[in-house]
Amino acid sequence: MAKLSFYYSVMGGGKTTSLLQTEYTYRKNGFIPLIIKPKLDDREGAQNGWGPIQSRILTGKHQALYVDSITPETLNGINFNILLVDEVQFFKPQDIEALSKIVDEKNIPVLCYGLKTDANGNLFEGTTKLLAIADEITEIVHPCKCGEKATHHIRRIDGQVDTGGQSISVEKGNVTYESVCRKCWKLAQEMSR
Ligand SMILES: [Zn+2]
Repeated sequence: MAKLSFYYSVMGGGKTTSLLQTEYTYRKNGFIPLIIKPKLDDREGAQNGWGPIQSRILTGKHQALYVDSITPETLNGINFNILLVDEVQFFKPQDIEALSKIVDEKNIPVLCYGLKTDANGNLFEGTTKLLAIADEITEIVHPCKCGEKATHHIRRIDGQVDTGGQSISVEKGNVTYESVCRKCWKLAQEMSR
C-alpha cells in the first residue's frame, strides 16, 4: 500500500539533497518519479511550469514542476508513479489533502520534504497538516553549532536578529538564516532585545 511520508529538517539540513538522492534511486530502479514544488512567485503568471531544482550539496540538472496549488487534476497528463514534494511547508492544508488522495486513490507513494518551524518557532501551515495525516514522519537530523540538534531558525536582517516577523518566505534584502537548537535560539532572541 502506498504511503504519505513526511521528511523534515531545519534549513540547510539536507532536505533537497535527500529528495534528489531518493529520486535518483527510484529512477535507477525503473520507477518514474516526479518532483513538484510550490510556486512562490507570481510574477511568471498563473501557469504551472517546469524549472530547475538545486541542492546545496548535489550538483547536476534536475527539473521540478512548480505549482500554485495541488488538486488531483493538477498532475493530469503527467506520467509518474512516485511523487516527491519539495518545500512542502508552503502548501495549504487542502493541498496536503490532495496529496493524500493521490496516495489513497491512485496508490502512488508521495514523499514530502520540508521545514517544521519558521523563524518564530511556529509550525508552518502545510507542516501542521502533514504532521496530522502523514503515514510516516522522519526527522533529518542536523547539528547546531553547539553540538545539540538544530530545531529552530535565527533570522537576521542586515546582521541583526529579527525577533518578531513573518514566516520564512521569499525575502528581499540581506536576510540570512542560521539553524540552531532551541537553547541557542532563545539566547539569540534574548540578547537582541
Ligand atoms: Zn545550540
